[in-house]
Amino acid sequence: MRIGVVSDIHSNLPALRAVLEDMQSVDAVWCLGDFVGYGPWPNECITLLRDIQAAGIAGNHDVAAIGKISTVDFNRDAAIATVWTTGQLTPESTSYLGSLLPRTEIEGVTLAHGTPREPVWEYLLTDETARANFGQFSTQLCLVGHTHIPSVFVLKEDDTVGLGHMPGGTSYEIGKLRTIANPGSVGQPRDQDPRAAYLVYDSERGTLEWKRVAYDIESTQAEMRKAGLPQFFIDRLERGV
Ligand code: ZN
Repeated sequence: MRIGVVSDIHSNLPALRAVLEDMQSVDAVWCLGDFVGYGPWPNECITLLRDIQAAGIAGNHDVAAIGKISTVDFNRDAAIATVWTTGQLTPESTSYLGSLLPRTEIEGVTLAHGTPREPVWEYLLTDETARANFGQFSTQLCLVGHTHIPSVFVLKEDDTVGLGHMPGGTSYEIGKLRTIANPGSVGQPRDQDPRAAYLVYDSERGTLEWKRVAYDIESTQAEMRKAGLPQFFIDRLERGV
Protein backbone atom coordinates (compact mmCIF):
# COMPACT_ATOMS: atom_id res chain seq x y z
CA MET A 1 0.00 0.00 0.00
CA ARG A 2 1.17 3.52 -0.80
CA ILE A 3 -0.14 5.98 1.76
CA GLY A 4 0.01 9.76 1.51
CA VAL A 5 0.56 11.18 5.00
CA VAL A 6 -0.38 14.79 5.69
CA SER A 7 -0.42 16.84 8.88
CA ASP A 8 -0.96 20.37 10.13
CA ILE A 9 -3.03 21.60 7.22
CA HIS A 10 -4.19 24.58 9.24
CA SER A 11 -7.04 25.59 6.94
CA ASN A 12 -4.69 26.26 4.02
CA LEU A 13 -6.72 25.01 1.04
CA PRO A 14 -4.33 25.88 -1.83
CA ALA A 15 -1.53 24.03 0.00
CA LEU A 16 -3.75 20.98 0.62
CA ARG A 17 -4.94 20.90 -2.99
CA ALA A 18 -1.36 21.10 -4.29
CA VAL A 19 -0.29 18.23 -2.03
CA LEU A 20 -3.20 15.95 -2.98
CA GLU A 21 -2.58 16.63 -6.65
CA ASP A 22 1.13 15.94 -6.30
CA MET A 23 0.48 12.60 -4.54
CA GLN A 24 -1.44 11.21 -7.51
CA SER A 25 -1.81 7.46 -7.13
CA VAL A 26 -1.87 6.61 -3.45
CA ASP A 27 -4.12 3.93 -1.94
CA ALA A 28 -5.03 5.98 1.12
CA VAL A 29 -4.48 9.35 2.79
CA TRP A 30 -3.88 9.69 6.53
CA CYS A 31 -4.10 13.05 8.31
CA LEU A 32 -2.25 13.50 11.61
CA GLY A 33 -4.34 16.39 12.88
CA ASP A 34 -4.55 20.17 12.96
CA PHE A 35 -6.96 20.31 10.06
CA VAL A 36 -7.80 23.86 11.20
CA GLY A 37 -6.34 26.90 12.98
CA TYR A 38 -4.28 29.82 11.58
CA GLY A 39 -5.69 29.73 8.03
CA PRO A 40 -8.83 30.94 6.21
CA TRP A 41 -10.53 27.76 4.87
CA PRO A 42 -11.34 25.42 7.80
CA ASN A 43 -14.55 23.88 6.41
CA GLU A 44 -13.17 23.46 2.91
CA CYS A 45 -10.09 21.59 4.13
CA ILE A 46 -12.18 19.25 6.30
CA THR A 47 -14.62 18.61 3.43
CA LEU A 48 -11.86 17.89 0.93
CA LEU A 49 -10.23 15.32 3.21
CA ARG A 50 -13.57 13.73 4.08
CA ASP A 51 -14.46 13.51 0.38
CA ILE A 52 -11.40 11.36 -0.28
CA GLN A 53 -12.08 9.31 2.88
CA ALA A 54 -8.83 10.26 4.56
CA ALA A 55 -8.28 8.67 7.97
CA GLY A 56 -7.76 11.35 10.59
CA ILE A 57 -6.86 12.06 14.20
CA ALA A 58 -7.35 15.26 16.21
CA GLY A 59 -4.69 17.92 16.79
CA ASN A 60 -4.59 20.56 19.50
CA HIS A 61 -6.04 23.22 17.16
CA ASP A 62 -8.91 20.91 16.19
CA VAL A 63 -9.98 20.24 19.76
CA ALA A 64 -9.52 23.91 20.71
CA ALA A 65 -11.68 25.06 17.78
CA ILE A 66 -14.61 22.97 18.98
CA GLY A 67 -14.15 24.05 22.61
CA LYS A 68 -12.92 20.67 23.93
CA ILE A 69 -9.81 22.33 25.39
CA SER A 70 -9.31 25.97 26.32
CA THR A 71 -6.92 28.30 24.53
CA VAL A 72 -5.13 29.43 27.72
CA ASP A 73 -1.98 27.61 26.60
CA PHE A 74 -2.12 29.21 23.14
CA ASN A 75 -0.25 32.44 22.41
CA ARG A 76 -2.41 35.51 21.81
CA ASP A 77 -2.44 35.31 18.01
CA ALA A 78 -3.20 31.58 18.03
CA ALA A 79 -6.10 32.21 20.42
CA ILE A 80 -7.46 34.94 18.09
CA ALA A 81 -7.26 32.56 15.11
CA THR A 82 -8.99 29.84 17.15
CA VAL A 83 -11.92 32.11 18.05
CA TRP A 84 -12.21 33.09 14.36
CA THR A 85 -12.16 29.40 13.34
CA THR A 86 -14.81 28.43 15.89
CA GLY A 87 -17.08 31.10 14.40
CA GLN A 88 -16.62 29.68 10.89
CA LEU A 89 -17.12 25.96 11.52
CA THR A 90 -20.31 24.43 10.16
CA PRO A 91 -22.20 21.96 12.40
CA GLU A 92 -20.89 19.15 10.12
CA SER A 93 -17.28 20.28 10.54
CA THR A 94 -17.71 20.62 14.31
CA SER A 95 -19.15 17.15 14.68
CA TYR A 96 -16.48 15.67 12.40
CA LEU A 97 -13.66 17.22 14.47
CA GLY A 98 -15.44 16.04 17.62
CA SER A 99 -15.46 12.47 16.32
CA LEU A 100 -11.68 12.28 15.88
CA LEU A 101 -9.53 10.35 18.34
CA PRO A 102 -6.26 11.89 19.60
CA ARG A 103 -4.38 8.70 18.76
CA THR A 104 -5.14 5.58 16.76
CA GLU A 105 -3.64 2.52 15.09
CA ILE A 106 -4.23 1.78 11.41
CA GLU A 107 -2.64 -0.88 9.17
CA GLY A 108 -0.25 -1.70 12.03
CA VAL A 109 0.97 1.91 12.34
CA THR A 110 0.42 4.20 15.35
CA LEU A 111 -0.80 7.71 14.54
CA ALA A 112 -0.61 10.56 17.09
CA HIS A 113 -0.64 14.32 16.55
CA GLY A 114 2.00 15.30 19.14
CA THR A 115 3.47 12.10 20.59
CA PRO A 116 2.05 8.68 21.52
CA ARG A 117 2.55 9.59 25.20
CA GLU A 118 0.81 12.96 25.03
CA PRO A 119 -1.01 13.05 21.68
CA VAL A 120 -2.45 16.53 21.95
CA TRP A 121 0.33 18.70 23.31
CA GLU A 122 3.82 17.16 23.45
CA TYR A 123 6.35 18.29 20.81
CA LEU A 124 8.72 15.60 19.55
CA LEU A 125 11.91 17.54 18.88
CA THR A 126 14.69 15.85 20.89
CA ASP A 127 16.19 12.38 21.22
CA GLU A 128 15.25 12.39 24.92
CA THR A 129 11.55 12.88 24.16
CA ALA A 130 11.76 10.28 21.42
CA ARG A 131 13.37 7.71 23.75
CA ALA A 132 10.63 8.20 26.31
CA ASN A 133 7.98 7.80 23.62
CA PHE A 134 9.32 4.58 22.08
CA GLY A 135 8.02 2.89 25.26
CA GLN A 136 4.52 4.30 24.69
CA PHE A 137 3.47 2.44 21.53
CA SER A 138 3.85 -1.15 20.35
CA THR A 139 3.91 -0.92 16.55
CA GLN A 140 7.18 -0.67 14.62
CA LEU A 141 6.23 2.62 12.99
CA CYS A 142 4.61 5.67 14.54
CA LEU A 143 3.66 8.81 12.61
CA VAL A 144 3.37 12.19 14.35
CA GLY A 145 2.90 15.84 13.38
CA HIS A 146 2.61 18.99 15.53
CA THR A 147 6.18 20.36 15.24
CA HIS A 148 5.79 21.25 11.53
CA ILE A 149 9.33 19.90 11.03
CA PRO A 150 9.70 16.94 8.63
CA SER A 151 11.85 14.51 10.58
CA VAL A 152 12.67 10.95 11.60
CA PHE A 153 13.61 9.33 14.94
CA VAL A 154 15.02 5.80 15.01
CA LEU A 155 15.57 3.56 18.04
CA LYS A 156 18.94 1.94 17.36
CA GLU A 157 20.12 -1.50 18.48
CA ASP A 158 22.29 0.03 21.23
CA ASP A 159 19.15 1.75 22.59
CA THR A 160 20.20 5.24 21.48
CA VAL A 161 18.08 7.41 19.22
CA GLY A 162 19.12 8.65 15.80
CA LEU A 163 17.23 11.63 14.49
CA GLY A 164 17.28 13.98 11.59
CA HIS A 165 15.53 16.72 9.65
CA MET A 166 14.19 15.28 6.39
CA PRO A 167 14.04 17.93 3.63
CA GLY A 168 12.04 17.36 0.44
CA GLY A 169 13.49 14.63 -1.76
CA THR A 170 14.95 12.58 1.09
CA SER A 171 13.86 9.05 1.94
CA TYR A 172 14.35 6.45 4.64
CA GLU A 173 14.20 2.66 4.60
CA ILE A 174 12.53 1.43 7.78
CA GLY A 175 14.25 -1.98 7.95
CA LYS A 176 14.01 -3.65 11.34
CA LEU A 177 14.37 -0.62 13.61
CA ARG A 178 11.46 1.06 15.35
CA THR A 179 10.81 4.44 13.81
CA ILE A 180 8.86 7.63 14.48
CA ALA A 181 8.39 9.88 11.44
CA ASN A 182 6.91 13.33 10.94
CA PRO A 183 5.75 14.44 7.46
CA GLY A 184 6.10 18.16 8.24
CA SER A 185 3.25 20.62 7.70
CA VAL A 186 1.03 21.08 4.66
CA GLY A 187 -0.27 24.52 5.56
CA GLN A 188 2.42 26.19 7.66
CA PRO A 189 5.91 24.68 7.23
CA ARG A 190 8.50 25.77 9.80
CA ASP A 191 11.79 24.40 8.47
CA GLN A 192 12.69 27.39 6.30
CA ASP A 193 11.17 25.82 3.20
CA PRO A 194 7.79 27.49 2.56
CA ARG A 195 6.58 24.74 0.21
CA ALA A 196 3.86 22.39 1.47
CA ALA A 197 5.24 19.18 3.04
CA TYR A 198 3.96 15.61 3.04
CA LEU A 199 5.19 12.03 3.24
CA VAL A 200 4.62 8.89 1.22
CA TYR A 201 4.73 5.66 3.21
CA ASP A 202 5.06 2.50 1.13
CA SER A 203 4.12 -0.37 3.43
CA GLU A 204 5.29 -3.12 1.07
CA ARG A 205 8.71 -1.64 0.40
CA GLY A 206 9.03 -0.29 3.94
CA THR A 207 10.02 3.16 2.77
CA LEU A 208 9.26 6.74 3.75
CA GLU A 209 9.70 9.55 1.20
CA TRP A 210 9.51 13.21 2.19
CA LYS A 211 8.04 15.50 -0.47
CA ARG A 212 7.64 19.25 -0.96
CA VAL A 213 5.35 21.02 -3.36
CA ALA A 214 5.01 24.69 -4.28
CA TYR A 215 1.57 26.29 -3.95
CA ASP A 216 0.06 29.74 -4.38
CA ILE A 217 1.11 31.26 -1.04
CA GLU A 218 -0.15 34.72 -2.06
CA SER A 219 -3.73 33.54 -2.50
CA THR A 220 -3.73 32.12 1.02
CA GLN A 221 -2.23 35.33 2.38
CA ALA A 222 -4.84 37.45 0.56
CA GLU A 223 -7.71 35.39 1.99
CA MET A 224 -6.20 35.60 5.49
CA ARG A 225 -6.02 39.40 5.16
CA LYS A 226 -9.68 39.49 4.10
CA ALA A 227 -10.63 37.38 7.10
CA GLY A 228 -8.67 39.68 9.45
CA LEU A 229 -6.42 36.87 10.71
CA PRO A 230 -3.23 37.89 12.60
CA GLN A 231 -0.47 39.43 10.46
CA PHE A 232 2.20 37.22 12.05
CA PHE A 233 0.62 34.09 10.53
CA ILE A 234 0.29 35.79 7.15
CA ASP A 235 3.96 36.82 7.08
CA ARG A 236 5.44 33.51 8.23
CA LEU A 237 3.94 31.52 5.33
CA GLU A 238 6.32 32.97 2.73
CA ARG A 239 9.34 32.39 4.94
CA GLY A 240 8.45 28.88 6.04
CA VAL A 241 9.22 29.53 9.69
ZN1 ZN B 1 0.02 22.46 13.85
